[in-house]
Amino acid sequence: MVARKFFVGGNFKMNGSLKEIETIIERINEAKFDGEVELVVAPPALYLLKIQEELKPPAQVSAQNSYTEKSGAFTGEISPNQLKDANVHWVILGHSERRSLFGDTDKLVADKTKAAVEAGLGVIACIGESLQEREADQTQAVVERQLEAIANEISESEWKDIVIAYEPVWAIGTGKVASKEQAQEVHANIRQWLAKKVSQTVADQTRIIYGGSVNGKNSGDLATAADIDGFLVGGASLKPEFIDIVNSGK
Ligand code: PEP
Repeated sequence: MVARKFFVGGNFKMNGSLKEIETIIERINEAKFDGEVELVVAPPALYLLKIQEELKPPAQVSAQNSYTEKSGAFTGEISPNQLKDANVHWVILGHSERRSLFGDTDKLVADKTKAAVEAGLGVIACIGESLQEREADQTQAVVERQLEAIANEISESEWKDIVIAYEPVWAIGTGKVASKEQAQEVHANIRQWLAKKVSQTVADQTRIIYGGSVNGKNSGDLATAADIDGFLVGGASLKPEFIDIVNSGK
């Protein structure tokens, strides 16, 4: 069996003043982390460089979004090449809030992913179904459609730079976490899909992390599922329990 390094991302979204975020970073810097974990935190873009200076290994910063182009007349956007230039190695793309509030389509997410990987970044690529889609039994079809859009732009060798975050929209920020069985079922199907559509090696090596109301109490159980390789954490990443989540890996 291939060992996949446990991966935890903290998505601060548009939360926190600089002072508040520095307090969170201090807590992360002082924490003891068990074993091997890859840890990234994504503060608002404005604070990336300051937080990057203050954050201690193993933690790294991540951006919450980046655009498809290297430079140009795209007011308000950040290019993946600029992130790379600033030594920001990670970016979250396709978050459900970007998809539902800011018009990030499957194709745009795929094009952003391609541009980020080409710039040399690691991408946390978010996919997941809405409640309506789950109730209509469309979960697998939706995640496959979102994955396929990315797979159409990415070569087999580029998958090593991608972490897939399965985030059911109905679980994000709602307090309604997916059960271990629900999450494991989708993660296993995603892995099978990668094996069939990309390659067995990519299926074995790609981290598939879960996001949606993960907290310090439910992370330990979720982390025991065979195909859950870590977490993308929103609300709880701002709280002391984030350290427990980071330490919940097997
Ligand atoms: C997220 O925004 O990616 C997320 C998973 O949020 P929360 O943990 O708050 O549900």
